[in-house]
Order: sequence, then C-alpha cells, then structure tokens
Amino acid sequence: MIDRRPNYYDTFQCLGGSCPDTCCRDWSVALDGDALADYAAAPSPLRERVARNLVADEDGDVCFRLDETGLCALLTPDGLCAIQRDWGEEHLCAHCAAYPRFIEEFGCLTESSLAVSCPEAARLLLEAPRFTLIEADDGIEDPPFEGVDPDLLRGLEHSRAQVLALLDGGAGAIWEKLRALLIHAETLQGFIGRGEYGRMASLPLPPTGGPDPSRRQGPAVPLLELLAGLDPLRPSWPELLKERAKQLSALSPADYPALRTGYERANPRWERQLSNLACYLVFRHWHKAVNDDALYGRAAFVCAACSVLYHLSLFQPGEEAALWTRFSREVEHDEDNLSQLIWALDRWIAADFI
Ligand code: SF4
Repeated sequence: MIDRRPNYYDTFQCLGGSCPDTCCRDWSVALDGDALADYAAAPSPLRERVARNLVADEDGDVCFRLDETGLCALLTPDGLCAIQRDWGEEHLCAHCAAYPRFIEEFGCLTESSLAVSCPEAARLLLEAPRFTLIEADDGIEDPPFEGVDPDLLRGLEHSRAQVLALLDGGAGAIWEKLRALLIHAETLQGFIGRGEYGRMASLPLPPTGGPDPSRRQGPAVPLLELLAGLDPLRPSWPELLKERAKQLSALSPADYPALRTGYERANPRWERQLSNLACYLVFRHWHKAVNDDALYGRAAFVCAACSVLYHLSLFQPGEEAALWTRFSREVEHDEDNLSQLIWALDRWIAADFI
C-alpha cells in the first residue's frame, strides 16, 4: 500500500480562535451514532447544551444547529468549540476532528491532503516553495478496491505524475502549461472512452510554448458568470463574481494587460502560487475519474479555477488565500456544484477560458 501526501501536510495547525474564517460556519455537520452516544454521556452542563442544539437537516441527519449568522451553536465567543474546550479534543465528532484533512482511498493507494477551504491550509499551499508529494510504501501489494479498474488507475497515476511535474517545474508559463494539460486530458479522455487504458501510460505530454494564450479578458468573464450561477453557500460569493465580471468587461484592451502587469509586478510569486494551486487541484481531483471516467471535465475544472482565482486576485491583491478558501467552500465542498461545473466545462475547449 502506498501512502501519499503533500510535504506540508504534517505542519498544519488549526488557528482556533484566531482563524479569519472559521469552518464552524455555514456547514451542517452530520453526526454519526458514535458521536451522539458520546455526547449523551458528556458532563453537565455541556451535555444539556449539546442536546439543546441538535437539529435534523433536510436529509434527516442529526446536526449541530447553526445560529442566525451561520455559526455553529457550540462555538464559544472566544472562537473555540465548547466540546473541545470544555471536554477534550478526543470528543470532537469524526468530521470536525478530521477537517481540513481529507483522505482518498483506492485500496492499493491512500492519499491525504488539506482542503484549501481552511484559511491556514490555503496559506500553507500559497507559501509552499513547491508542491511536493511525500510517499511511503509498506511493501504490501494490496489490490485496488472492487470496482476500481487497475489499468485505468495505472493510467491515471502515470498521467497525473506527468501533469504534476509539468505544472510544478516544467518549462513555460503557467497558462501554456494549463493549455497543455487540457490538450493532454482531451487525448486521455478519448483513450478512456474507448477503454484503451494501456495507452494512457505511453502518451507523451504535448509541448508548451506558442503564443501566450492568456492576454484576452474575454474568457474569464463567462467563467465568472458560470460560477455565479451555482447554488451559493453565501450570497456574497455570486455577488462578488458578478461584480468582477462587470469590472473585467468594462476594461479597455489596454487597461486589461496593464492591470495584469501591475499585479504580477507587485506579486512576483503569483505564478508559483497559481502552480501550487493547480497541483493541489490535480492531486485532489484527477484520480476521481476512476469512478466516472470524467477526466477532461476535471482538467477543465482545474484550469477554470486557476483562471477565476487569478482574475479575482487582480482586484484583491494580497487576498489570494482568502479567495481560494471562498472558492473551495463554494465549489469543492459542494458535490452538486462541483459535478455541475465539471459537466458544464466538459464542453469547453482551452480557448474558452485560458
Ligand atoms: S478553518 Fe482551519 S484554521 Fe480555521 S478553525 Fe477550521 S480548521 Fe482551524
């Protein structure tokens, strides 16, 4: 079994009460039977407080109640969880204890990462000198889970390693690399569609280079509008996207490159930051095609995320981590939004958004 994770994974520490955008907001945390049994045995008065703040969500799952501002009712004024503060971290439910860590398991392979919906995880990714994976192999040859095609998984492993190497250290500007990623994914998707998984491992990456594909503001506008049409977690998100789409549309052909040049000069790490983001998204989403064959849409999602977050950053320099966090909460953590976006982007070609 291979175990893989980004090298900054183990440095994560929750910011607790200093967090600029706590995860104890807006999300309904479904509690399992073990957690409910544990809370029924909590010391008083915590036990009564928990019991008073349990509600059923629309699926009938028992969750902590959110107050009128969207904050978890168990959150204390000092920004800490009452269960953790008054009883101990070991009594957090599985969801709260794990976040922002997430694990993908394929039987022969386990991958862990930190969701950038957490501001501290976003900061770690933003400031990482490179996106590097560390790997441990216990030497035991576990088979993939039932339903996971080993040849498809092998093809995804090979192609993702190629793409990560390109994004992290390959030659060319980030936009050229993203364009190459899409071209590569399109060919891979054809192999997947025909069940020719064996050909995935021998496909070379397309070359980068050619004219800079990113100097028109046009493609970013429909992308912002597409995202603004998704079901929002917070109403302020689509409002922001629509406002930025309007501002971008209003820029003259001279003002747009000037805005970009000013941003890139003021933030010399912008390309590294975007490469790290692209690598994180590829690492997190590429292998999910093993479940539904939809690789191209996921590659397009990576490009769309980079384009959208770059263009939002032009108007909010220095707030990259906060923007990544908002995007991740709105899209990555909402399965309906994510699959809707992947499905929509499956029809877009590189020129549509890079
Ligand atoms: S969002 Fe991250 S840093 Fe903030 S409270 Fe949650 S886990 Fe901690």
